[in-house]
Amino acid sequence: MVTEKVDVLVIGAGPSGAVAASILQQNGINLKVVERQKFPRFVIGESLIPRCMDNFDEAGFIEGILEKGFEKKLSARFLRGEEVCHFDFSQKYTKGWDWTWQMPRAEFDKTLTDILQSRGVDIEFETTVENVIFNGSDSVTTVSNAKGTKEIHAKFIIDSSGYGRVLPRLFNLDVPSSLDPMSAIFVHLKDNRRPKGVEGTQITFDVLSQKNWFWVIPFSENISSLGLVAPKEYLEAVDKGDNEETFREIIRQSDYYRERFDGLEFIFEPKKLVAYSSAVKKLYGPGYALTGNSAEFLDPVFSSGVCFASESGATAARLISKQLKGESVDWEKEYEEYIMEGVGVFRSYVKTWYTGELQRLFFHPEVNEDIKSKLCSVLAGYVWDKTNPFVAKHDRAVQAIAHVLT
Ligand SMILES: Cc1cc2nc3c(=O)[nH]c(=O)nc-3n(C[C@H](O)[C@H](O)[C@H](O)COP(=O)(O)OP(=O)(O)OC[C@H]3O[C@@H](n4cnc5c(N)ncnc54)[C@H](O)[C@@H]3O)c2cc1C
Repeated sequence: MVTEKVDVLVIGAGPSGAVAASILQQNGINLKVVERQKFPRFVIGESLIPRCMDNFDEAGFIEGILEKGFEKKLSARFLRGEEVCHFDFSQKYTKGWDWTWQMPRAEFDKTLTDILQSRGVDIEFETTVENVIFNGSDSVTTVSNAKGTKEIHAKFIIDSSGYGRVLPRLFNLDVPSSLDPMSAIFVHLKDNRRPKGVEGTQITFDVLSQKNWFWVIPFSENISSLGLVAPKEYLEAVDKGDNEETFREIIRQSDYYRERFDGLEFIFEPKKLVAYSSAVKKLYGPGYALTGNSAEFLDPVFSSGVCFASESGATAARLISKQLKGESVDWEKEYEEYIMEGVGVFRSYVKTWYTGELQRLFFHPEVNEDIKSKLCSVLAGYVWDKTNPFVAKHDRAVQAIAHVLT
């Protein structure tokens, strides 16, 4: 059998794997990326948050992405009937990026892998990881593609396989998510009635009921992404046996968007993802680290997926580079605790969103600009800034304020 030897094998070329690969290369590490699909490929996760930009910047991706002219995202709007709550990232409490992008992931992710390949990173597309064996400090990964099967020996594996969850599945690392099972249905459509000006490109979350919300993510070139997130049982109840008909009915539930989107042409048949939240026992082990969705995925309500994917990819790559250069790394503290701190903040906000407490804060007329700017920092992904009380006391702050608001 053909065998190859590298220092680091990265599984998956989504944003997590791409950021990791770039930082490894910058550190002079001998690496290889294997990716099951051919890019561009569809994946959901089209609204970024500003903290991602720090990671894309570190990976040297910003300039190359800018050239593509993706739609810029400067803010996020939440609607509930007549009520409006608008977060402008330039008003956030924590210093940092105050804009990011909203874009189709197929083209975005291809942009990242094109940049990597132009810098000489070895990415093997349409190559699937079938099995991994760890023996001491080395690992042997069996991959297959149209040419056959081969083995890749690596000192370290970064599993960035997203929904593929390669190592969690092979080594039984999955644990049930602490969140209630939610599901989503989504589509891209030709946004032919898009209004001119800011309204046309405003990213919006329309709260249809406490647990059901509808997203509108306008891309450049008049294509928009629409989706509904709701409890699994709700999606089962509205299912018309045909995803297109089901989604057309869902569009009609949004008072704000019904007229703009009713009857417009879908670019593909609406896709469904059922009970998508995931979690693992451990984010690392001897010779491997789990990053991005392969590690943990909460909920799309605050668009935090790519932020964690890029943050964990960047952090793992930095630590592996240190370790391979002979420096000591405390994986528990420097990786697991660090990543789970940020995940924990978002988990509190996701939970209080679905209990209705956070929604009460968002839409309450008495919530002042100071509170809003601190909430805005969390929504921008600056969830490691403990000078922000909405980060430091994330498990209590929202409930405490919601409690005193009537
Ligand atoms: C309904 C919904 C809406 C969402 N909306 C947002 C949003 O607005 N903003 C946001 O930031 N996030 C969002 N997310 C989350 C987002 O999809 C993920 O967090 C993000 O894509 C994770 O990136 P990643 O690099 O970890 O994985 P991915 O982007 O999934 O990439 C993983 C790659 O690994 C490859 N792979 C899988 N198995 C194998 C294998 N065996 N061998 C080789 N390669 C393999 C796959 O082909 C894939 O290309 C949403 C999620 C859901 C469910």
